[in-house]
Amino acid sequence: MSGRIADPAARAEALAAAFEAQGHEARAFAERIRGIATDAWRPENGARVVARAWTDPAYRARLLADGTAACAELGYEGAQGEYIVVLEDTPELHNVIVCTQCSCTAWPVLGLPPDWYKSPAYRARVARQPRRVLREMGLELPTGVRIRVWDTSAETRYLVLPLRPEGTEDWSEESLAAIVTREAMIGVAFVEAPAAWPQPRPPSRDAMPDQG
Ligand code: FE
Repeated sequence: MSGRIADPAARAEALAAAFEAQGHEARAFAERIRGIATDAWRPENGARVVARAWTDPAYRARLLADGTAACAELGYEGAQGEYIVVLEDTPELHNVIVCTQCSCTAWPVLGLPPDWYKSPAYRARVARQPRRVLREMGLELPTGVRIRVWDTSAETRYLVLPLRPEGTEDWSEESLAAIVTREAMIGVAFVEAPAAWPQPRPPSRDAMPDQG
C-alpha cells in the first residue's frame, strides 16, 4: 500500500461518485445531513437540558435515570443520541468525556465535536493525565476533587451535567441556558456566571432622600 492518501474532500467526492454510479443519491443525502448538522444538532440543545435539570428536580431525576428519554422530552433525539447517559458533577467528583477511538459525541444535544475533541493529543492524553490536560485547557480543579474520565463508545454517548454556578439561584431557566457551554457539557470547563451580568445592588446612601 502506498503512503499517499488523498485529502478528505477528494475521498468524499470519490465515494459520492461511486454511490451515484450505483443509482444512490449520495450528494443530496450528504447535503441533507449537512443541513441537519447545522440547524438541529446544536450545543444550545444540551444547554437547555442542563438548565431544565438545574431548575426542575423531577426532570433532573428523570435525566439521570434515563438520559435518552429525558432529552427526547425536550425534542432532542435521533442519530447518535439513541443512548445518552448523563453524568452528574458534584463538588467532589468531576466528569469528563472523550472518545479515544475517534470523535463520538451525542449529536442531538452536543452537536458535532469541536476540533480539539478530535485531536490525537486530547484523545491520547486525557484518560492518562486528566488533571494535567484539564489544567492546560484552563480548568484548574481543586486537589480534593476526583476526576472520572468516560470513554464514549459507538453506542453510548455522554452528557456532563455540570455544577450550577453560585449566585445564579434566582436566574430563569432561559438565562441559565445561555451560560452553559459545549465545553462544560464535555467536562473541560466550568459553567461560569459572567461577572458583568447585571445584579441587583442596594441603592447608595447618597441617593436616599434626606430624612433630616
Ligand atoms: Fe468516536
